Amino acid sequence: MKPIVHKLEFMPSREFKARAHEALGNTGQRRSFRGAMDFLQAKRAAQFPDTAELEALRTLGEGIRQRCLSKLPELLETLEARLTAKGVQVHWAETPEQANAIIRGLVVAAGGDLVLKGKSMVSEEIELNHHLAEHGITAIESDMGEYIVQLAGEKPSHIVMPAVHKTRAQIARLFHEKVPGAPLTEDVDALIRIGRHAIRDLYPQAKVGLSGVNFAVAETGTLCLVENEGNGRMCTTVPDVHIAITGIEKVVEFLSDVPPLYSLLTRSATGQPVTTYFNMISGPRRDGERDGPKQVHLVLLDNGRSQAFADEQLRATLQCIRCGACMNHCPVYARVGGHAYGTTYPGPIGAIISPHLLGLQNTKDLPTASSLCGACGEVCPVRIPIPDLLLRLREEAVRAPDQSVSHPLKGQGAAHDPHLAGVWRLWAWLHANPLRYRAYTWLATRLRGLMPRKQLGWTLHRIALKPAPKTLQERLAERQR
Ligand code: SF4
Repeated sequence: MKPIVHKLEFMPSREFKARAHEALGNTGQRRSFRGAMDFLQAKRAAQFPDTAELEALRTLGEGIRQRCLSKLPELLETLEARLTAKGVQVHWAETPEQANAIIRGLVVAAGGDLVLKGKSMVSEEIELNHHLAEHGITAIESDMGEYIVQLAGEKPSHIVMPAVHKTRAQIARLFHEKVPGAPLTEDVDALIRIGRHAIRDLYPQAKVGLSGVNFAVAETGTLCLVENEGNGRMCTTVPDVHIAITGIEKVVEFLSDVPPLYSLLTRSATGQPVTTYFNMISGPRRDGERDGPKQVHLVLLDNGRSQAFADEQLRATLQCIRCGACMNHCPVYARVGGHAYGTTYPGPIGAIISPHLLGLQNTKDLPTASSLCGACGEVCPVRIPIPDLLLRLREEAVRAPDQSVSHPLKGQGAAHDPHLAGVWRLWAWLHANPLRYRAYTWLATRLRGLMPRKQLGWTLHRIALKPAPKTLQERLAERQR
């Protein structure tokens, strides 16, 4: 069967507000997201009936991730040494361009023009499929959700369930139109069978399989892969060459660090006590073995992670195990969906990680896409203080570019507006002194009738701001009389 080549749609993250506005008007999509998020929230809650056990596990997970990050450079060196000793070839990439060039070189060296991919958000981050397509190499997603969005020429809208925005009817139509010979059916089992056959027919032709990595164990030189469909196992064992790609933060120190993180990941992500498959990859096929890849490569990508690592507060971003729970519980994500963000990682985790990957100047609206309700921080299995980091990034975005900080972010001061900065300075001056504050609030209540009905962007979606008829001090004084 001839591989299908799909057009990809790229979405610059700068247009977040326009996309969010458009998404809010799409009631069908809002209903789909709301239903899916409610379902996932309930599944997660059912996995953690005992709050004390959940909190103890979160403390353990947080401690493991913080310990591993505190030793990140040395753990990466150990990982490289252990993997190399087992015959895995380790490659370092500082940028997406370098990672793409390394992978393309490996595919060309393997003599192939077809890559079968397991789920990998890092490969989405570097836009690998697009890069390979430009060089005549076809990459086919083998995870069913990824396959669906690839067929549709879209990007994933969720890091765990890439096609969560699609209805069954839309998937049925898509398969019927794009998969040769597929009948029009909305039967879920039949749809999965159609997708599986289309993908599995390609395995004999593919010289290269590509996968992500959930945990890379430094102690043993083991790459752990969590999945439900068995496609990850096929991509990493059937083709002659297996290329794994991951961010540098995914390294853990000991094999014993994996079970608690795995438990937190699967229960938080899909509400499963364990996934159907858990793969541990320890090297290429050895002499005398009958199957397995002849070569295994690991590409370790930085792409802004070192910048987050250098900052003591923002380093917490790297604790993430990509469970997606923060997205599932975010009222903004549930309403606008993943595509509105225009980034590989949407939702709260995307808002705190994307500025490192793409620069704050390109993502300055994302940290503001939060009501700061705190749900993301409360459900995060490794206790990343997401609301605090959102506030920090908001501050960085409006900081004057020339204001020196110890670790300036890429694109810092992206939203700096000298007029707005002047307004906030005046605001701070008024609030810093009790006498000034009382005088200004007294005056504001008396002049409330002069407030304009239209107040720039504020009144596009909200009612106009108007001071109360009496100040708080006046009301308290009245009560005490
Ligand atoms: S930030 Fe926390 S909740 Fe969100 S994806 Fe990462 S680990 Fe999961």
